[in-house]
Amino acid sequence: MITSAFIAAAAVLPHPLDNTAFKRGDAGYPIDAWDLVAFDRSARRWLQGTPPVLKDRATLGEMIRVLSLTPAKAADSYARRPATYVANINECPTCGSTGPGRVCNTCGVERVRQTEVRPWNAKAKYCAAWAEHHENLHHRPVGDDLWTRAATAANQLATEATTAAFASASQTQIRLEGIWHDDATGFDIPLRTVLNYAPETTSKYGNMLGSLSLTNDATRGTWERFAINRSAHVAAALKQDLWAAATGNPRPTHAWVLVERLEPYLVARRRSTPSVLEAGRLRLASIMARYCLAIRDNDWPSLDPEHADPDVAFSPVDYEPWMALPPDPHLHTSFEPGQEVVTE
Ligand SMILES: [Zn+2]
Repeated sequence: MITSAFIAAAAVLPHPLDNTAFKRGDAGYPIDAWDLVAFDRSARRWLQGTPPVLKDRATLGEMIRVLSLTPAKAADSYARRPATYVANINECPTCGSTGPGRVCNTCGVERVRQTEVRPWNAKAKYCAAWAEHHENLHHRPVGDDLWTRAATAANQLATEATTAAFASASQTQIRLEGIWHDDATGFDIPLRTVLNYAPETTSKYGNMLGSLSLTNDATRGTWERFAINRSAHVAAALKQDLWAAATGNPRPTHAWVLVERLEPYLVARRRSTPSVLEAGRLRLASIMARYCLAIRDNDWPSLDPEHADPDVAFSPVDYEPWMALPPDPHLHTSFEPGQEVVTE
């Protein structure tokens, strides 16, 4: 159970923290919701995987969060890499040949200095100097195309009336830290997470906290199945409970603001029911119990058990009725009766 928590910072940037002082598999390693979900899927993959570091390339999800939730801070930590640069070239006024030499070998005429717009090229002197300049400033470089996509998606979030109102009623990007105490092992595990939205208690969203998620498909039914499969309810339960322990102001509902990763960057809104959060809490407790045992016993199971009996060593794949469900059980509700629906 969570025994203590506090708000460590607000308006934090979403890039990875420096975790190099800790080692996965040690009880002192600070874990966030992502770690727990990854551990739950495969303890060994999580243990042996490489933690994200600041040098990693910025992702679309990261940039949408920056531009949507903390836009004033974008310029402090990120640099938009131009798509092109202006190259200086020497051009012969007689034959038009270009090259590094100041004099044209064919015509014997002095070349004239010209400029040319070229696609960005990391090897070019100008581009290398740009990269070094921003590296010295500890800016994360972001490609022009990625930045444009993130800005377009952030603009969609800002343009939709409800998501804009939800965001402007909220403190954003709140870093929560806390301790999970496990009775069976006696471990106190440091937890930390970033809460994307915390609406003011007095606003009409005052019973909610929220996450901003990037998704391939926010269609109702499709997203829910994907999200629960990826343990979005576990992450939500962790955020809700850390907030409650840190502030003494528990919120009953978790909101998910969704934005699709491709044009036209549709925006969607979902909210948790009490039962989905309760399922998330139960799963969270079960993961934490297994996580503490894995640390204590230094036993990090892979995907299937090693066993002399092949029936045990090879996990069975059975046909389950849900595998035959169409991808979107709510599809029919999006269309008028009698309208022809093509689903494939
Ligand atoms: Zn020439």
